Amino acid sequence: MFEELMENFYRIQVPLPQNPLKSVNCYLIKDDPPVLIDTGMNKEECFETIKTAIESFGKPLVVATHLHADHLGLAGRIADTVYMSEEEVKYLEKLKNLEFWIKTIKFYIASGFPAELARLVSSVHPGIKFFAQPKEFRCVDSINAGGYEFEVIITPGHTPGHLCLYERSERVLISGDHVLFDVTPNIGWWPHFEDPLGAYIESLKKTRSLDARIVYPGHRKESKRLKERIDELIEHHKKRLEEVLSTLNDKKIAWEVAQKVSWDIKFESWSKLPLMQKWFAVSETIAHLEHLVTIGEAERVEGESVYYKLR
Ligand SMILES: [Zn+2]
Repeated sequence: MFEELMENFYRIQVPLPQNPLKSVNCYLIKDDPPVLIDTGMNKEECFETIKTAIESFGKPLVVATHLHADHLGLAGRIADTVYMSEEEVKYLEKLKNLEFWIKTIKFYIASGFPAELARLVSSVHPGIKFFAQPKEFRCVDSINAGGYEFEVIITPGHTPGHLCLYERSERVLISGDHVLFDVTPNIGWWPHFEDPLGAYIESLKKTRSLDARIVYPGHRKESKRLKERIDELIEHHKKRLEEVLSTLNDKKIAWEVAQKVSWDIKFESWSKLPLMQKWFAVSETIAHLEHLVTIGEAERVEGESVYYKLR
């Protein structure tokens, strides 16, 4: 269950039942106190694994790469204080506000998401369901533990304040969900976060300049191919932007564009796609459309519905 990857540095694979990602990689630096990076969801299956780690290593300080429930969800049950990037801490404040959720749901409905489904999402969204609220959040710049010094690299895109951790002398990168190797990180739309895809591409370029020997991601296996993988991810989004742009021969809402884009997951038809997958697909589509608006290739027309058209 615990794999020692380097001296005093462990991977804890926490299961994610009924989730296509299967598990989340949490990393633990052995020290007094130990430091736990990411936690799993607030589900009993996740807690059992983390509890065993706490029994073996002691009660940890908790750092989360980002606010998604599979990384942060359990943090409130393990520690009173959770450390994240300043941007992510500020964003979490916004999430507490009901107005944030109303604005989100309204925007999805204006983008064509059926109203009754959009409301249903707020009851099944894993970010809401599997989250234990910690007492307080604090900002983190670096982690000194176990003989290592991990510096925080801010990588907005997957979330507004996502962070990676880089150990410069060991050339080890903990990448969270910023860079994954056999799945493509989801880049979606967020209220109060302008052009997430543009931010993501900038973050990828910043990460590409690191001379990492090995990357430990938030899901699936580690890899030595940081630069190559970043090039692939940039290329993937470039292709998808072209695909999205090619659908805008006449004005369209995101819901229509999403059904014309080729997605990585296999499904028979759009109507057979599970609700949450539809939500993520529309969210990704909006992120691409908004990036096209930012770079001047498309235009957003707002009325009761939000349309996009070629510029
Ligand atoms: Zn994530």
